[in-house]
Order: sequence, then C-alpha cells, then structure tokens
Amino acid sequence: MPSYDPNNIFAKILRGELPCHKVYEDDKVLAFLDIMPRAPGHTLVLPKAAARNLLDVEADDLAAVATAAQKIAKASMAVFNAEGVTLQQFNEGAGGQVVFHLHIHVIPRKAGVPMKPPATEKEKPEVLSDQALRLSAVLKA
Ligand code: AMP
Repeated sequence: MPSYDPNNIFAKILRGELPCHKVYEDDKVLAFLDIMPRAPGHTLVLPKAAARNLLDVEADDLAAVATAAQKIAKASMAVFNAEGVTLQQFNEGAGGQVVFHLHIHVIPRKAGVPMKPPATEKEKPEVLSDQALRLSAVLKA
C-alpha cells in the first residue's frame, strides 16, 4: 500500500489550508459536509491523525471516528427527518476510495429515495452552510 500523502485534500482541510462546512470536532476527529452529497446531510468523519484508510489507522483513532460517526448519525436522523442512515467507508482505489485520508460517510436516508451516484453534483455553499449550522447545533446540545 502506498504511504500517506500529507498533501491530500482532507489533510489540507485538517490543517485549515482549505475551507469546509464543519459539523463536529473533538481532539481526535473532524467532521464536515460532503460538497457533492449523495443525500442531504451527507457528512464525512475523519481522524485528525494521518491515516490513509482502515488498513493503516491506529485502533484508538478508528474508535474515535466510529464514536463520532454514531453521534452524527443520530443527530442527522433528527435534523434531516431521516428514516435511516447509510455508512460507507472505502479503502484503496480498488475499494472505491478517491481521497486518501480515512473517512466514514454518514448519509441520512428516506425510504424509497435512492442515493445520488457519487460525485455528481456540487451542492450550493449556502445550502451546505445552513445544514452544517443545524447539524452542529444539535451535536453541541
Ligand atoms: P471516497 O474517497 O470515495 O470515499 O470519496 C471522497 C468523497 O469526498 C466524495 O464523496 C467527494 O464528494 C468528497 N469530497 C471531495 N472533495 C471534498 C471537499 N473539498 N470537501 C468535502 N467533500 C469533498
């Protein structure tokens, strides 16, 4: 497996070099909205530590990411009136991974509404800002 590339786009977001629509942060985890959501509220949950994917992440960072993903899944049920939540996580190109810093997708779902295909449409920044505000408010409560 290739080594971790510190210039991947999520590493730049973690260092504050690129913006994001943040929904949650703690000492080990950052979560922000996917700019090309497969459904409203689609969130990415990342360890702050450098990890390419599930295959090289330290166990305590993985545990922190999983715990945060659960919190975000529960909050997104309320904020987006969801009836379910899909979690996805891809490893290496062959496994569907495009950005090589570990992330879990948390995707609120409604019955009978299919997810959009990956990376089809960029959401408007003002829509993402509003969603991030509402989700982070519930997560802070
Ligand atoms: P994957 O590596 O296959 O899990 O997919 C990477 C995901 O990152 C896709 O869902 C993209 O829409 C999303 N993405 C790419 N660039 C950004 C960005 N700058 N901010 C938020 N999401 C992004």
